[in-house]
Amino acid sequence: MAAFAFVFTQRRLDRLIGGRLRQADVVLELQLDAKVVVEASDTLEVSMDCSHCVRTGRTVIFTVGSASGACTADLARRHQAHPPYPGRIVERVIERGQDGITRVIYRLEYDAHRFDDAKYGPETRPWSGHPTWGRVSFTLVCPLCSKVLRTSAQNNLGRPFAKTCGCGYQFYIERREMPRLRWRDPDLDKWYDVPARFDAPENEWGKASRRLLAWFGIQR
Ligand SMILES: [Zn+2]
Ligand SMILES: [Zn+2]
Repeated sequence: MAAFAFVFTQRRLDRLIGGRLRQADVVLELQLDAKVVVEASDTLEVSMDCSHCVRTGRTVIFTVGSASGACTADLARRHQAHPPYPGRIVERVIERGQDGITRVIYRLEYDAHRFDDAKYGPETRPWSGHPTWGRVSFTLVCPLCSKVLRTSAQNNLGRPFAKTCGCGYQFYIERREMPRLRWRDPDLDKWYDVPARFDAPENEWGKASRRLLAWFGIQR
């Protein structure tokens, strides 16, 4: 039954997408000791443009192995039918680079058609066709006490901050906006980095975090 449902949804999705897909990567970079064990969640939250809602920046939940995503507008308004979001996770890898950085990479494939945001309009909420925010959930196993830390990284946080185990072991310090986002334009077959938004000096999040850090006497 589950297999049938998967095939059925996949067919619907293929019809919706029509063969021309965009791709995007959600990349979490962690400066971890090699002894720390990392596991990444099956579910990923990403802000995407949703042509069913005709709204930009909808939070969409993708699950590894699922043929489509779920726009959270669906969860908020259960009485209104919302079709599956036309996209999925095609790959999830965890790798440790030669630079000593551990990377959790989710690759998404999705459909996107240009539209003007129905509530705020194109000036306030421009359509982008790529993810604009992400939250990656993951676990870290402490190499000293073996306790498991369940945690997440998301773009709109004040930085820097440290992720520390209850025993006092410091896993890492997050100094820059995470996760990194990049997307591929299928027409030009080119990849683009989505610029960091929340750490930008002119941004309210950046200002607030700088004020907080200044209050603690930290400069960056
Ligand atoms: Zn939607
Ligand atoms: Zn510990």
